[in-house]
Amino acid sequence: MGGKFRLEPFAFVTRQTMLGRVFSGMALVALGLAGGTSAAFGQEPATAKRFDWAKPIPAASGAAFDQKLAFDALGAVCDLGTRVSGSEGMRTQQKLITEYFRGLDAEVSNQLFQVRHPLDGSAVTMNNLCVRWHPDRKKRVLICCHYDTRPFPDRDPVNPRGVFLGANDGASGVGLLAELGRHLAGMDGKWGVDFVFFDGEELVYVAGRDPMFLGSQYFAQQYAGKNWDVKYQYGVLIDMIADKDLQIYYEKNSMKSAARVCRSIWGVAKELGVKEFIPEEKHQIRDDHLPLNEIARIPTCDIIDFDYPNPERPNEYWHTLQDRPENCSAESLGKVGAVLLEWLRQLQKL
Ligand SMILES: [Zn+2]
Repeated sequence: MGGKFRLEPFAFVTRQTMLGRVFSGMALVALGLAGGTSAAFGQEPATAKRFDWAKPIPAASGAAFDQKLAFDALGAVCDLGTRVSGSEGMRTQQKLITEYFRGLDAEVSNQLFQVRHPLDGSAVTMNNLCVRWHPDRKKRVLICCHYDTRPFPDRDPVNPRGVFLGANDGASGVGLLAELGRHLAGMDGKWGVDFVFFDGEELVYVAGRDPMFLGSQYFAQQYAGKNWDVKYQYGVLIDMIADKDLQIYYEKNSMKSAARVCRSIWGVAKELGVKEFIPEEKHQIRDDHLPLNEIARIPTCDIIDFDYPNPERPNEYWHTLQDRPENCSAESLGKVGAVLLEWLRQLQKL
């Protein structure tokens, strides 16, 4: 995720003020709304056995969220190395995700646009990847994450020009959605779900100078301009959800714009006994949910644990070489996944 910095002006996407506006008049109802095995074989590519993108298997109806599968997907994404916007790793990731979700009979589409590279002004092709479940269903909800990684671990005290893997800040969202998709394939009900993987969340070489949220801004502008073919009643953003020491507080911008969405999710967490969802406000975070709330007007909640690794050392791993799979947890991914899966199952009954 991009951090708490102000959004800077930039020319190639229409600038929007991101000051919070209280979103009123939402008609939310009910729901409380009112493993890698290849490590031993060093000569093999790590992706060979960790996760099979080519043969996804739909989950049985009512099955539990498989945290191991989600974590394996997180690891397989990190095996690609950097996934900075426009990179080879990003293109490979797009190909694998597309193959995987098409294998589960979802519709996969690409929202392409171009930005100027912050360093040399060259064109960078961006790709917001959309995965649509049950396109025939009229009532729809948006579940999203970013899938690009920061160009460098620029907060790393030792090697700020090393390879940033973004295990928590990037791959955790992809891993969770890879597993969640197996459950959506056969989920009965009236609600359709769209996953959107945002590109360009942090194509940031100089913090505070380079613009963030390029993908979500573009998406929100297209949506607000009616260049998107469906409407979403709610949105959920996930970011940095694989921290071993998980504490997910209400995020302040989300509570301004999408309080009822937040409360319904935390309510489901309480029902499930997932105590890591703490119903108190803590951080105020600028993330991809801001354009969704303020431009697209989709009430969107950000589920994020911003104390990485923990509240005593809040940002020690964030944007450093320490953001790697070894510092993430299958259990944490599983807890967030279980809450979201149950939230969607309850939504289907409305
Ligand atoms: Zn980040």
